[in-house]
Amino acid sequence: MSQVGPVPKRLRPGRDNRAMTDTAFDRLPLSPALLANLGQLGYARMTPIQAASLPLALAGRDVIGEAQTGSGKTAAFALALLHRLNVEVKRVQALVLCPTRELADQVTQEIRRLARAADNIKVLSLCGGSPFKPQAESLSFGAHIAVGTPGRLLDHLERGTLDLSALNTLVLDEADRMLDMGFVDDIKAIAKRTPAQRQTLLFSATFPDGVQELAQKFMRDPQTVKVAGATSAAASTIRQIAFEVSDAQRLDAVPRLLRAFRPESTIAFCNTKQQCRDLEAVLAAQGFIALALHGDLEQRDRDQVLIQFANRSASVLVATDVAARGLDIANLACVINVDISADVEQHVHRIGRTGRAGADGLALSLASLDEMGRVGRIEQLQGEEFSWQSLDSLQDAPGAPLLPAMDTLQILGGRKEKIRPGDILGALTGEAGFTAAQIGKINVTDFHSYVAVERGIAREAVQRLSAGKLKGRKVKVRRLADLE
Ligand code: AMP
Repeated sequence: MSQVGPVPKRLRPGRDNRAMTDTAFDRLPLSPALLANLGQLGYARMTPIQAASLPLALAGRDVIGEAQTGSGKTAAFALALLHRLNVEVKRVQALVLCPTRELADQVTQEIRRLARAADNIKVLSLCGGSPFKPQAESLSFGAHIAVGTPGRLLDHLERGTLDLSALNTLVLDEADRMLDMGFVDDIKAIAKRTPAQRQTLLFSATFPDGVQELAQKFMRDPQTVKVAGATSAAASTIRQIAFEVSDAQRLDAVPRLLRAFRPESTIAFCNTKQQCRDLEAVLAAQGFIALALHGDLEQRDRDQVLIQFANRSASVLVATDVAARGLDIANLACVINVDISADVEQHVHRIGRTGRAGADGLALSLASLDEMGRVGRIEQLQGEEFSWQSLDSLQDAPGAPLLPAMDTLQILGGRKEKIRPGDILGALTGEAGFTAAQIGKINVTDFHSYVAVERGIAREAVQRLSAGKLKGRKVKVRRLADLE
């Protein structure tokens, strides 16, 4: 560890190989429709894990991929399973096991995006925490791809609502996390109920014994692919700066960092739920729009927090590692380690959430003297020393207080009332007279809809939506922040 002054050094410059021509997707034997869709999605080049795994997976090989969230691993397995899919056969041909509902939902969305090329590919998300019956009903209508958490999937298998006899592809996503969460027996039981002739793809950030055992037991002559320095690949476009703090300074240091660096979106990682709550309060008291995500939240509150953060209505998400598992928020400007993680891999995982897809990332770490041992181990794993800066050298950047660009409106009414995102956009840009550019992400859930609007027009948008009609009916609308 050394004091290298205020100028942060960049970690591992020059890793970027996206400019290489052999990373073009059209090198792969994918259908023209799939290729055209990739172009529309803005996927110009394969990410390193895609370039390494797709040729093998498309050739039908079992593949073990060393990759983490943000590497593009989802598309790596999704393209492989879509390639093998027969749309005419409305039976589950691909099954993806994920550790958490959030990851399963993201994987489902990514597969749906990639599947847009073909007509009517039905992708179902089957996770615990949602009622069983509607899932069983959806399954009874037939589906091509199922994504879910092991416990619930096994439930469906045992109750006979899920049939895997037509399965071609089994994917284990974030295998290490699934084992951490105690899913090993469920995974084995599920794998045993799939045809022996299937293709198996396994992705994991780390390879503890349990993961290797799974691979040995359930994969046929698997090919392992990893991209150079996979554990720290995520760090390569990330500016990492550390600050020494006493425990008494720790929470107050966070708003100072925010005022100095002014990141548009930040996840602040804490080691405990209590620390999350305390930090949320400190930030709120200083005028920041921050939301906390931790294990004590009800599922609905959790969903609302994620919607607001993802649609740019909050500047900071304060989270524990467990709560943030599997979260995929695009373009995160900054990660703050409020505490240094005791688990070195976890640190790498945390900071890998910024600087994705070639964007510049910023990772700020607060470390007390007691945490220097952890810092040393992280430096060793990364093969790089931290850059240190003193808190006192920080100056507030000029400008108005840091506020998120958007604000979220909640509409009472959702899928059950057959409300679709287009209806909401239509109401805001039609009768209410706003422009589409003033409207952000729209999320429709079963009973509520959420729409992000420019912060400055939120109150007026509430009034105009309340005064008008949505799908021919009056609706109740309010700013979500007014409820909290
Ligand atoms: P993942 O690691 O699967 O969570 O993917 C991280 C993000 O990268 C997701 O938002 C993907 O939509 C995006 N992504 C995946 N592959 C590509 C690609 N080849 N080019 C651009 N973006 C990609």
